[in-house]
Amino acid sequence: MKRTPVIAANWKMNITPSESEGFVKAFIPLVKDNREVEIVLCPSSPTIERVTRSLKDAQNIKTGGQNIYFEVNGAFTGETSASMLKDLGCSYVILGHSERREIFHETNDMVNKKVKKALQTGLSCIVCVGEKLSERQNGRTESVVKDHVTNSLANFSKDDMKNIVIAYEPVWAIGTGVNATPEQAEEVHVFIRGLLKDMFDEETAEATRIQYGGSVKPENIKELMAQKNIDGALVGGASLKPDSFAKIVNYQ
Ligand code: PEP
Repeated sequence: MKRTPVIAANWKMNITPSESEGFVKAFIPLVKDNREVEIVLCPSSPTIERVTRSLKDAQNIKTGGQNIYFEVNGAFTGETSASMLKDLGCSYVILGHSERREIFHETNDMVNKKVKKALQTGLSCIVCVGEKLSERQNGRTESVVKDHVTNSLANFSKDDMKNIVIAYEPVWAIGTGVNATPEQAEEVHVFIRGLLKDMFDEETAEATRIQYGGSVKPENIKELMAQKNIDGALVGGASLKPDSFAKIVNYQ
C-alpha cells in the first residue's frame, strides 16, 4: 500500500516566536514544490501562532503542538488544551515523546487520554514509542514497544487510527548523533505493523504511517526512507535550521 510520508519537525524548547519568522521565510521557498511529503512544523506553544501566521500562504506545510493536557479546561496551571492548539491552527500534536515520558513522568495511560482528547478535538496525533539503551541491551526492545503501542493506543477504533501516526523513536538515538541503522529501524517498524494487525486488522496496519525518529539528518534520510515500512521521520536537532530540514523533506 502507498502511504504518504509524513516528516515533522520537533523544535522542542527552541526557536522563539521572533526567530520563527526567519525560519519560515527561509523554509517556504525551499519546499514550495514538494507535494509528495506531508510537512509538519511543531513549535513550542508560544511560537505556534507566529508560525501559523507566517505560513498562511504555504498550503503544503502544517503545524502541530508538542503536547496537550487531556482535560478540556480549568485549573491546570501551565497546561495547554487540545482546543487551544486547534484554535491556533494546528493540525497535529506530538504525544508521548520520550522526553515527556522520562522528564515529566507521562505514563501510557496519560498518553492514551491525551490521544483521545486530541482526536475528539479534531487534531491528528503523532504518538511516540521506543526503548531506552539499557532495554535494547537487555533484549527488551519488543516488549517495551509493545507496551507503549498497545497501552497508548488502547480502546481506539480503526477509524481513529486514520488520524494517528506512530513515531518509533529509540531513546538511545534521540539527540545523540547515533541513528538506528535502517535495518534496525525497519525491524521494529515491521514489529509495530504486526501489533497493529493484531489490535485492529490488516488494512489498518497497512494504512498506518510509522515514522522513524532519532538523529535523522540530511545524510541518512534517504537510506531510512528506502525501507518498506518507514513512512516518514520525526526530526529534532536537524529541524532547527531551514536548509537542513528542507534537505530532509526533499529527500526524494
Ligand atoms: C526527537 O526528539 O523527536 C528527535 C528525534 O530528536 P533528534 O532528531 O535530535 O534525535
